[in-house]
Amino acid sequence: VRGFRALIMGPPGCGKGHISEKIVKKYGAVHIAAGDILRKHISEGTNLGREAEKYISKGALVPDSLLLGVIGTAVYKAGKRNWILDGFPRTLAQARHLEKVAHLDMVINLQIPDEAILNMLKYRLVHVPSGRVYNLGSKAPMVRGLDDVTGEKLERRADDRPLVVMARLESFVHQMEPVIRFYRKRHLLHTIYGRQHQSIWPLVERYLIKRWGL
Ligand code: AMP
Repeated sequence: VRGFRALIMGPPGCGKGHISEKIVKKYGAVHIAAGDILRKHISEGTNLGREAEKYISKGALVPDSLLLGVIGTAVYKAGKRNWILDGFPRTLAQARHLEKVAHLDMVINLQIPDEAILNMLKYRLVHVPSGRVYNLGSKAPMVRGLDDVTGEKLERRADDRPLVVMARLESFVHQMEPVIRFYRKRHLLHTIYGRQHQSIWPLVERYLIKRWGL
C-alpha cells in the first residue's frame, strides 16, 4: 500500500514544524521541510547554503534554481513511505513544478492570525542540525538553551526578528493566495483555523483519520 503524500501550508511561525513532528511520530512519515534543508546546507557551509543564506537572512525567497533540485531529491528518497512536505511550494510556479514530480493526496492549510504568530516567534529557538523547534513559552527545552536530545546549543533564527517576520508574513499572503487557489481547484485543500499548536493538532489528527482512515 502506498503511503500518503501530504502538504502542510501556513504562515511562517504558525507551528507547521510542530504539527509535522506529530504526524511524523504518529504515522512514521518522512518530514521534508524546505527551510530545514536550506538551514542544514548553511550550517554545513555548502555552496548552496552560502547562496541561500543571502536570501534567507533578508526573509526573501530562495530562487527556484537553488531549491527545486534539493526538494526533488528529498521527495524521490522518501519513495513510497508516508511523507509530509513543509514550506514548499511557496509560489504558484513551485506548485506547478511539484505537480509534475509528485502526486499529492492532501493539502493541510493552517490559518493563524498574525498577532498570534508574532507572539509565538518571540520565544522560538531551534536546534539547527536536526530542525527541532522549542518555544520558551509552550515547549521549553529541559536545560535552558540546549537541545534535549544532543545537548547542543539552541539558536534564535536570524529571520525571526520582528521586522523580518513582518516582511515574511506580508510576502507569504501575497505569494500563497494563488497557491491556495491552485489546490482548492484540485479539491485537495483542507483549511484549519486556530491560534496555538496545542489546539490545532487535534483538528489535524481528526482530519487525517477521516481523510486517510488512520
Ligand atoms: P521556513 O523554515 O519554512 O520558514 O523557511 C525559512 C526560509 O527559507 C524562508 O524564509 C525562505 O527564505 C527559504 N525558503 C523556505 N522554503 C522556501 C521555498 N519553498 N521557496 C523559496 N524559499 C524558501
